[in-house]
Amino acid sequence: MKKRKWSNYLWVVELLYLCLGLFNILFAWLGMLFFTIPLLVAVFGGSKAYCNRYCGRGQLLGILGEKLKLSRNTPPPKFLRSRWFRYGFLAFFMVMFGRMLFATYQVFTGAPLSQTVTLLWTFKLPWQWADVSLAAPWAAQFAFGFFSVMLTSTVLGIATMVLFRPRSWCVYCPMGTMTQGICAQRNRKKANLYGRTGQKNCGASETAGQ
Ligand code: SF4
Repeated sequence: MKKRKWSNYLWVVELLYLCLGLFNILFAWLGMLFFTIPLLVAVFGGSKAYCNRYCGRGQLLGILGEKLKLSRNTPPPKFLRSRWFRYGFLAFFMVMFGRMLFATYQVFTGAPLSQTVTLLWTFKLPWQWADVSLAAPWAAQFAFGFFSVMLTSTVLGIATMVLFRPRSWCVYCPMGTMTQGICAQRNRKKANLYGRTGQKNCGASETAGQ
C-alpha cells in the first residue's frame, strides 16, 4: 500500500487560506509564505521541488480536475506555453503587484483605506464586513491588495483547469515562471563551473499542464 505523506495534503492549507481571508482579511498576509517559500527553494535548492511536491494550489487544481472530474482535460493552447506569453504574463503580474504596493504606500502616507477586493484587476468587490481594527491602515490595505492577487490567480487557475487540463494554470503561473527562471540560471552557472549541462530539475512543474 502506498504510504500517505503529509505533503499530499497541502491543498487543505490553500483552501484554509482562502476561507480565512473571507473571515478576516488580515490573514491575507499569510499568503506571503506562498510567495517566499518557492523563491527560497529555487534560489537555495536550485530546483522546482516546491511546485512538484509542496504547492497546495497545484494539488487543489489537480483534485478538482482529476478526482472531481471538473476539467475538460484538453491540452492547453500552444501560446500559453510560449516563452513570450509566460514572461509577458509575469511582467504584467509584477506591474500589478507594484501598483498594489504603491496603493499600500499611499495609505501609509495618509490616503484613505479602500476596503475592496479587486478581482481580475477590474471588478471591485465591497469587503466592508472585514474587521481591520487590529491593524494599521497600510497593513490592512496591503492585505486587501494581496488577497485580490491571490483570489484573481485562483479564479484564473480554476478557469484554465475547467477549460484545459487540471494543472494548466501551472503552465503560466508567475511563481512557476520565476522559479523556473531562477533555477535554470542557477544550474547554468553550476554547469559552467563543472562543465556539465545545467538543465536538471528546471523544467516546468512536473505536472504542469496535466
Ligand atoms: S506553477 Fe504555480 S500553481 Fe503550479 S505548482 Fe508551481 S507555484 Fe504552484
